[in-house]
Parts: sequence; structure tokens; C-alpha cells
Amino acid sequence: IPYPNKNGEPCGFGFRNGAFLQNIRKHILTQRNIRVIEGTVTHLIEEEDTIVGVNYKRKLAADEESLYAHLTVVTDGPLSKFREKLSKPVNKLNGYFLGLLLKNCELPFANHGHLIMGDHPPMVIYPVTSTSWRVLIDFKGEKPPRLGRDFKKFLLEEFEQAMPKSARAAFVAAVEEGKFKTFPNHRLPANPIKRQGAVLLGDALNMRHPLTGGGMSAAFNDVLRLSNNLEKIIDFSNLRQLGKAVQKFYETRHLGTQTTNILADGLYGVVYNPDLRKAFFEYVSRGDKYAEETCSILAGLNKDKKLLLNHFIAMARYGTQLKISAEKPGVVVTESLSMVKDAVGIITPLLLSEKPDPGNKLMLEALNRIV
Ligand SMILES: Cc1cc2nc3c(=O)[nH]c(=O)nc-3n(C[C@H](O)[C@H](O)[C@H](O)COP(=O)(O)OP(=O)(O)OC[C@H]3O[C@@H](n4cnc5c(N)ncnc54)[C@H](O)[C@@H]3O)c2cc1C
Repeated sequence: IPYPNKNGEPCGFGFRNGAFLQNIRKHILTQRNIRVIEGTVTHLIEEEDTIVGVNYKRKLAADEESLYAHLTVVTDGPLSKFREKLSKPVNKLNGYFLGLLLKNCELPFANHGHLIMGDHPPMVIYPVTSTSWRVLIDFKGEKPPRLGRDFKKFLLEEFEQAMPKSARAAFVAAVEEGKFKTFPNHRLPANPIKRQGAVLLGDALNMRHPLTGGGMSAAFNDVLRLSNNLEKIIDFSNLRQLGKAVQKFYETRHLGTQTTNILADGLYGVVYNPDLRKAFFEYVSRGDKYAEETCSILAGLNKDKKLLLNHFIAMARYGTQLKISAEKPGVVVTESLSMVKDAVGIITPLLLSEKPDPGNKLMLEALNRIV
């Protein structure tokens, strides 16, 4: 899928997470109105129902200290310790990503991410330098993959042939080297509880499958929306105004994150369904708007939920058309129906998690019961 054109040239940006964050931190350190304290928050300080600050320990310190504020921004990431104070989380562990690094090799499309799908768990491969690539392999289930004695053999048997030829030797070398990283993959729809004095955002509030690399876009969307609301407040001791700004953030943040969330978890459902997986591949392979618009949603550039839905439905319809034209009509009717049913079954719960308006909610709930 080509990058969008800017001034006649394909244009896309890749960031190394660590370097990107360090540069943001460097920038923050130059701001005169910001004081940085490095430490670990141990408790949120609560007075009745209001959060008034935090207890924390500085790096290497033995004693706790306290900080008080009109607003505490809680953003402690995927393994959040404080999310239960500020939301009602219904967290689903989808499985784990196993990470490997491919060195000194090329993939078919330089400077592009690769999603490898087939009769094996999906793999995502993306460049981290001009000669090395990160591979993430999905492992479904409650427990991380067991990195025992036979694990390397299993990886080679299961995935070596699925790798593009140009990367196979590097894959074998990475498996032999055995520097594996595992990360849990969660689906956590946002379900905040409004508490005076604090706000929850980022992965602590809401997570989706990292297959599409959407988490950072969602976190930045939260930062932007919350700061736009807070910017208008002149006096932070005006708790009513502060509360309203947080409330507005919770009510509207989905407008910036819903397409990222639906696409990530929707695509995760699609890659495990052989018919839909093929339909998706054939659909985006048509190029033009089929590729460009889906890619712009994936990149977080386009946040039009209707457009995403149209593509999702059109993809399932295209899949059924392909089936019907490839085989005898009578044989495929049941399979085609089940493909549409599967597509609806994947997308409906995701739409229900993203604040549908009341009319749509009733329809989606009814659909959810049927599929
Ligand atoms: C394998 C994988 C690949 C990914 N790839 C991409 C990608 O390509 N693109 C993308 O956009 N997103 C990607 N993501 C998702 C992205 O990394 C996250 O969505 C994003 O980092 C969330 O930001 P956050 O600030 O909410 O949480 P985090 O980035 O986790 O930051 C939370 C911070 O809080 C700190 N913290 C935690 N507890 C405390 C405490 N008690 N006191 C003080 N500090 C604390 C942590 O040390 C951490 O620095 C990926 C995720 C995974 C797992």
C-alpha cells in the first residue's frame, strides 16, 4: 500500500519509540514552567471522593514524599496500577507478541511495514534501522509462549517458510540467537469514572491490539484533546470548570480514537478468519481508494468512522463475490453467508464499545444477539 503523496512524493514517517520519547522529554525539560521529578508514584491521595495528589518515591530514595495538585493526570501505561480508581476496566488479554530482530536483510518493500498472513499466526515486520527489522509474532492465549528447549525448533517449523525469501536467513539467525521479547496484548475499551481532581488517559484508560501500531496515535489524541479543554481554564482552583473540562474529554475522546481502535481489533479478528483474511488481502490489493483510504485510517490520518465501516462491509461483500465467481454458486451460498456473519460478529462488539448514538446502539445490540 503506497504512502500518501505530499508535493508529488510518497510521504510517511517512522519513529523509533525510545529515541522519539527521549526527544519529547528533552523538549519538555527546556520548558520554564515545568518541573520534572523522576520517581515512582505509590498512591493517589484521596480526600473523600476527590483525588488531591500523589505519594511517590524518588529514584533510589527510601522515603515517600507527597505532591498536591488541582488535577492529577494518571497515565501509567498498559500495566496501570491506578486505572481501577478512575475507570471500570473490562480488560481482555488477547495473547502475546513475541519480538525478534532481523539483522542485515532486506524485505520486499523497503521502508514499509509488512503484515504476513496465512495458515499460521500473523506476523508484523517493520524497519527499525536501514538494515534491521523488528518481527512481532502473535501468540493467542492467556499465557505467554513457553520459551523452552523445543521453542526454537517450533518457530522455524512454523514460520520460516512464511517469511519472505530475502529475510529467511536473518530469521533463522535471529531464532538461533534466541533474544526473544514477549509483550502482552490487551483489548481494553475505555470506561472512565469521573472523579474530582484526576483524569485517566493513554493505555491506562484504553488499549487495542498493537497489530496496526495505533496506541501512540490514541495516546497523542488523548493528550491533544485534554490539553485543548484545559487550555481554556484560567484558574485551576476553579474545580467546577476543571471537572467540566475532564468530563468533556471523556465524552469526546472516542471521536479521535474510535477508528484506530475498531480497525486494530477488527483486523485482528480478520487475520484469524481464513475467508475474511483472503477477502481483506484481495480488497486492499485492488489499490486506489481500497488501499489508500484504509491506509489513511490505519495511520490515524483519517478518523471517519463511516468510511471505515463502508470499507469493512465492502471488503466482506467483495470476499463473497470472489467466492461466488470462483466456485459453483450453490456450493458457496452457505460459506458466503457465514463470511458476512463473521464480519458482522467481529465489528459489532467493537462498534458497541465506542459510544454509539442511542439509535445505532439498539440496532447493534440486536445484531450482537443474532450473530
Ligand atoms: C509490542 C508493541 C508494539 C507497539 N507498536 C506501536 C507502534 O508501532 N505504534 C504505536 O503508535 N503504538 C505502538 N504500541 C503501543 C504504544 O507503545 C502505547 O500505546 C503507548 O506507548 C501508550 O502510551 P502511554 O503513555 O499511555 O503508556 P506508556 O508508554 O507505557 O507510558 C507509561 C509510563 O508510565 C510510567 N509509570 C508506570 N507506573 C508508574 C508509577 N507508578 N509511577 C511513575 N511512573 C509510572 C512507565 O514507566 C512509563 O514510562 C505498541 C505496543 C506494543 C506492546
